[in-house]
Amino acid sequence: MENRCDINGVKKASYYLNAEEQRPRSPSAIVIGGGFAGIAAAYALKNASFKVVLLESRDRIGGRVYTDYSFGFPVDMGAAWLHGVCKENPLAPWIGRLGLPIYRTSGDNSVLFDHDLESYALFDADGRQVPQELVQKVGEVFESILEETDKLRHETSEDMSIAQAITLVLERHPDLRQEGVANNVLQWYLCRMEGWFATDANNISVKNWDKEVLLPGGHGLMVRGYRPVINTLAKGLDIRLHHQVTKIVRGKKGVEVTVSSGKAFFADAAIITVPLGVLKAKSIKFEPRLPEWKEEAIDGIGVGTENKIVLHFNKVASLMILRKCLTRLLLNLPLVS
Ligand SMILES: Cc1cc2nc3c(=O)[nH]c(=O)nc-3n(C[C@H](O)[C@H](O)[C@H](O)COP(=O)(O)OP(=O)(O)OC[C@H]3O[C@@H](n4cnc5c(N)ncnc54)[C@H](O)[C@@H]3O)c2cc1C
Repeated sequence: MENRCDINGVKKASYYLNAEEQRPRSPSAIVIGGGFAGIAAAYALKNASFKVVLLESRDRIGGRVYTDYSFGFPVDMGAAWLHGVCKENPLAPWIGRLGLPIYRTSGDNSVLFDHDLESYALFDADGRQVPQELVQKVGEVFESILEETDKLRHETSEDMSIAQAITLVLERHPDLRQEGVANNVLQWYLCRMEGWFATDANNISVKNWDKEVLLPGGHGLMVRGYRPVINTLAKGLDIRLHHQVTKIVRGKKGVEVTVSSGKAFFADAAIITVPLGVLKAKSIKFEPRLPEWKEEAIDGIGVGTENKIVLHFNKVASLMILRKCLTRLLLNLPLVS
């Protein structure tokens, strides 16, 4: 039985206490958001003898981890790579225990080269494959350009975008400029960098772009998808789907969390794992307000959009068909006409 008080200690329902219930009760927590962060937090708290309830707004758990099986094989529409294939990675023991295979796509080098070039083929606008040697050579040029942008960091205390920095470097070192197809390949490398940061090169800071600390071991693709890992971690947890949190009130005795239906949950503490975009949109009301420094941080950090489009052909498609499909998709036209 719970001692159902509101967070300021006012009794909401009267219960009697018997000897059994006078034993110290387990601490309680509400975890908000059922993505990897929320499920991992709930799992850890449950193991530490907390009474935990997890509130998730959607009709499924996993958040930005979502394995689609509708093609007849697993396709990760969100996270698909394990960045840092090593023992220190907290996911490694789970993946190992489940016997899930990982396809190592690249070694430890920069975040820009997280895919092996072997499984890539670039084609020019006329459908001709760009020779791999050219792709590799331009990759080295791109690395030289980035090394030069590093020097710019020390020349000025002001930050600038990676796009501005590359323009400056190419003005100083015209020998690094590329022409024709090689220039297109250079743009492709820049696009990959934009893809990694999910934003335009004009928004990537030259001072900070490489400050992310990655685990060693390179990058590996979860060929059977991430879903089994999420499902295993979530086993036995008290998860409430369709529970969109709208308000969090913090008081002397704990927290009161309200969902869109009006239902309220009470606990000693809450862990909030909703995406930054949700916090930026201010769709959850905090009482009292979050500290100013936290609000400033939420406003100040950007979020990008990254999406995936998966095409399944019932026979191996010619490259021309593939190009046509992609063009139609980009122009928002039906795929079959
Ligand atoms: C296309 C794509 C590809 C990616 N590829 C990789 C990759 O290969 N490798 C990698 O490591 N990372 C990758 N990522 C990033 C990775 O998916 C995320 O960093 C990670 O899944 C975030 O987990 P999270 O639990 O913090 O947030 P989320 O997974 O976003 O979980 C937050 C949860 O909160 C819920 N929620 C939101 N608002 C409310 C509310 N008001 N009340 C209750 N619940 C709410 C959401 O529905 C969601 O389930 C990729 C992301 C995308 C989008």
